[in-house]
Amino acid sequence: MRRLLVTHALPYANGPLHLGHMLGYIQTDIWARAQRMLGNEVHFVAADDAHGTPIMLAAEKAGKTPEAFIAEIRQGHEADFTDFHFSYDQYHTTHSPENRELAELIYGRLRDRGLIAKRSIQQLYDPEKQMFLPDRYIKGTCPKCGTPDQYGDNCEHCGATYAPTDLIEPRSVMSGATPVLRDSEHYFFELGKSEQLLRDWFAGKYTAGQPVMHASVAAKLKEWLDGGLKDWDISRDAPYFGFPIPDAPGKFFYVWLDAPIGYLASFKALCDRTGLEFDDFLGTDSTAEMHHFIGKDIINFHGLFWPAVLHGADMRVPTALHVNGYLTVNGAKMSKSRGTFIQARTYLDAGINPEFLRYYFATMLSAAPVDVDLDLKAFEERINSHLVGKWVNIASRTAGFAHRHFNGKLAGHFDAAEAGLWQDLLGHYEGIEQLYADGDFSEVTRRFVLMADAVNAYIAAKAPWQLAKDPAREDGLQQVCTLALSAFRLLSGLLKPILPASVASAEQFLAAPIADFDDARRELFGHVVGEFKPLLVRVDPKRIAAMIEASKESLGSDHGAAATATAADTKVATSADKVPVSAPASTHDATGPAAEISIDDFAALDLRIGKVLVCEAVEGSTKLLRFELDAGVLGKRQIFSGIRAAYSEPARLVGRNVVFIANLAARKMRFGVSEGMILSAGSGGADLYLLDADQGAQPGATVR
Ligand SMILES: [Zn+2]
Repeated sequence: MRRLLVTHALPYANGPLHLGHMLGYIQTDIWARAQRMLGNEVHFVAADDAHGTPIMLAAEKAGKTPEAFIAEIRQGHEADFTDFHFSYDQYHTTHSPENRELAELIYGRLRDRGLIAKRSIQQLYDPEKQMFLPDRYIKGTCPKCGTPDQYGDNCEHCGATYAPTDLIEPRSVMSGATPVLRDSEHYFFELGKSEQLLRDWFAGKYTAGQPVMHASVAAKLKEWLDGGLKDWDISRDAPYFGFPIPDAPGKFFYVWLDAPIGYLASFKALCDRTGLEFDDFLGTDSTAEMHHFIGKDIINFHGLFWPAVLHGADMRVPTALHVNGYLTVNGAKMSKSRGTFIQARTYLDAGINPEFLRYYFATMLSAAPVDVDLDLKAFEERINSHLVGKWVNIASRTAGFAHRHFNGKLAGHFDAAEAGLWQDLLGHYEGIEQLYADGDFSEVTRRFVLMADAVNAYIAAKAPWQLAKDPAREDGLQQVCTLALSAFRLLSGLLKPILPASVASAEQFLAAPIADFDDARRELFGHVVGEFKPLLVRVDPKRIAAMIEASKESLGSDHGAAATATAADTKVATSADKVPVSAPASTHDATGPAAEISIDDFAALDLRIGKVLVCEAVEGSTKLLRFELDAGVLGKRQIFSGIRAAYSEPARLVGRNVVFIANLAARKMRFGVSEGMILSAGSGGADLYLLDADQGAQPGATVR
């Protein structure tokens, strides 16, 4: 039996949860539930991440104390998690006595081992607000291109990155005052001293040779490691909402120091409540495992700092990082104006079953850190087809016959045909345990569809409604009921980590609880099933429309938070005032960066914005979509693009912006002339995502 401590990234306590958050969180809950079904000892903990400047300012703006502010946010988060069927053993907050104690303990050990340095740095200071300003709280004119109103860390127009002190005419976002440079003593964690530890950890030295993360994530981290590790600034000056650094008056731990320690604090609270031994899991000689599920935006914190901090503080290092990608909705970035910036509560309030989202995400998730698109039309179709049309249908088509003809009692054996089909089903079910352990939920659900289709085809061929008319064929009818309901239970076992509530109802109907994945393999010979009640109703498209409308309505109401609604999942950008490692601005996938080019090479490309006037499938081609673009001053352009597998409903692309290469030589194709190339991101096939431009970009505008 494995002993597992499981965590997901901590939601930032400055706003409500949205569906982008739920992607990684749901992935974690499914995995934790599957591990429990595998018979392992699982402790699934999480917490609200409740410190930092954005929260301090949001509370101030809302006229509340930070404590009252985060308590209210936490209440909302916990209600969402409960309604989405999360199975935490402990949900906590980083603003807790356990976390303060652990942060002080860990800091003390790092300091005593000589891993903390003190240095004076110059930082911009708001003389009116009397506080040092994080990069995102300073705006000014870009020193490279002269665009006004840019943030202190990078220019949204030309993409340049710089220090806030480089801005022309800088001003404080909070008071409008001109910031002044001031000296301040900061505390640094000397990450460079942990380089060998990190290399050993990546190489599997602490995990018996097992990889600690997906190869593409490891490649990214090694790139940073090879680029040289910089010291990490772990202190902030007052005023700050966080824990004071012991023996350092006026200094506080930076939120990113105590946020991951929050995993341990939540676990500590669980230990205190249940008598578990904290050191059995966190000691350097621990045989237990620690699994962190995180988004790809925070891999540097979890893949570099966190293991180094743990090791430096005489604690074990993580067993594995499970990394998920970003969520898009209807093929595009979540957008408030399009109504696709959907809060978890808005989804629930629209009356859509929370398990439907769990299932949809499961069909898209694997061990690779891929982005997931919530295509709402595909969502509706998939739920109605897979869960209602395939799974529930098996029970609803046969349960009535079992009751009317046999008082719910099933046969004591399978005839030859049923025995053969049952073996086929078990064959598809084989390996489900490992697929769950590997996080390959999309393959789990693919197997489910395969099995359910086989059973439904069998029922259709046997036509129990015909058998029921002929008393001489009662045995055959009972065979159909026995096979179908045994298979329904097998499928329910497979789906249990994904659909905990619906499967609980199924177990009640079957009067046969499913203890684990193996138990689901048992045929229901001679068993008496209970009364069938409809388990699920189809997704009503009106509810999806209502959810979109409600999401548009929340436009502008930012719940008193100082940062934008996206701040919750981009704490890095909003509260990190220094990018702590030499992280390149753009992330490349596993293939690594391409060869260097000169600015002239880039300038040779004429990239433009095009507005989609027409988009349609091309008859005679399985790959191509035909676009007609409004290219502004360049007139209209016809372009064929091989992205059909990624966009099943081309008409929905009409009206949106795309980015295309305008000076690519025209190419005569079998279907017509293609005048350019439309850009998309991804690896090909269904994994392709069109680039978009924010509102305001005009057709024909140059992309630089
Ligand atoms: Zn610029």
